[in-house]
Order: sequence, then C-alpha cells, then structure tokens
Amino acid sequence: MTRPLVLCSNDDGVDAPHLNALAALIEDFADVLVVAPERQRSAASHAITLHKPLRLTEVGPRRFALSGTPVDCVYLGILKLCDRVPAVVVSGVNDGYNLGSDVFYSGTVAAAVEGALRGAAGIACSLGPRAEDPDRAIRFAAAVVRAAVAEPMPAGTVLNVNMPKTPSDGYQWTVLGRRLYADDVSERRDPRGRPYYWVGGGPAGHDDVEGTDCVAIARGWNSITPMHLDLTDRGRVDQPPWALEGFHVVVGSPP
Ligand code: MN
Repeated sequence: MTRPLVLCSNDDGVDAPHLNALAALIEDFADVLVVAPERQRSAASHAITLHKPLRLTEVGPRRFALSGTPVDCVYLGILKLCDRVPAVVVSGVNDGYNLGSDVFYSGTVAAAVEGALRGAAGIACSLGPRAEDPDRAIRFAAAVVRAAVAEPMPAGTVLNVNMPKTPSDGYQWTVLGRRLYADDVSERRDPRGRPYYWVGGGPAGHDDVEGTDCVAIARGWNSITPMHLDLTDRGRVDQPPWALEGFHVVVGSPP
C-alpha cells in the first residue's frame, strides 16, 4: 500500500534543526519530501518569486533547497517534485511563535496556507524561541501530523500549531488572539550619513482573552488553531457600512 505523502517546508531555511527533527518523526508514518528555502526567510509572508530564476539544489535524499520563499518551495514542490498531491503540507517547526496577527506576516504559516490552496491540508508548526527540550516539544507537532494523515481533514484546512518553550502534554483548540509588539521604527545613519530604518520591535504581551492561542501558550499548553482561508466579512456584505453617493447599489445574492 502506498504511504501518504507529506511535503515539509519552513521559513528558517533547509538546515534549520527543527525542520529536520519533525521530518524525521513524520518519516515513521509517511513518505516525506523536504523543499525549503536555502536561507532564512522568516516574515516572508505569502510572497512568490515572479521576476527572477529559482535554483533548486538536491541536498540529500528527498531533500531540496530552493533559492526562493517558503511559498515558492510549496508551489514548486507540489507542481514539480511531488508525484501526487501531498496529503499534508507541514511547515516548520519554526523557531519562534506564530500567534494571533503573526499569521499575516509569517512565512511558516504562508507555506501551510499554500499547501491548502493547492489541495492538501496545511499544518503550520511553531515553537517558542530558545525552547528547553525541542525534540520533546516537536513530538506534539508530529502527533498532529500523524492524526491529520490518519483521518484526513478536508482539503483547504489549515491548522496553526504552537508549542510552548517548556514541553507539555496538554493542548487546547483555540482561536487566534491578539499579540502586541513594541511597534518601532528606528532611524540610524549609514557610514555616508544617509538615514536608514529598522522596523519591528519585540513582543510586548497579548490581550488576555480566554480561549486564544496567546493565552494557551502563556499557560504552558500546546495550541491548535483551525483557520479557514475565506477572508470575506459576510456580515458586512449583508449589512454594508454605507451607500455611495452618485452610484446605485446592485443587490445580488452572495453564494
Ligand atoms: Mn521563521
């Protein structure tokens, strides 16, 4: 019997230890193909490379490095390297959380979303920075992938999985919370006296809302947030915020 296929990627680069630790655990129950960026591409979001060539390097058996973004890796992996649509596209394990609005910036989450857009289930896995016992923590991610392979989720499903720094046997199904950052733009001077800018401050806590991924992690549990990709605000379609002067609204019936 053919084993299920799992495509693994990440945004920390093909040599990231957490990627290889998770891929090794998944190999127990699935055929694994790894296609990952040749270098660190965190916060690449859903970028794809349309205006320059991509180079693919075979770095080991069923292991490839690509000179592109995490989404390039999944795109090319599924369309060029996989002999069938993977059951699951796994991204990570990322070195650092992806909680709340992080999902919009994250290359880790974007790679899982790309898998979902292409007919697989997508699972994004992230672990607290400087984790105490990464190998043990990553066993939780492997258990999620194992369950998703054994009992397939509908194509298009995305799970955003976060694991606390200290490994836990507990997990919670959560909603995306709101993570806060010390929003910052630093202005400095280069050696020629011209200004340059550095955006992004460190984490500054989260809204303390029960049931969110942020709070589950703060309490030391693993978190699984199911996401869907339909960003439409259906309530707003039903009840538009205003009428536009000089134009008339055409009333349709949204699907
Ligand atoms: Mn990363």
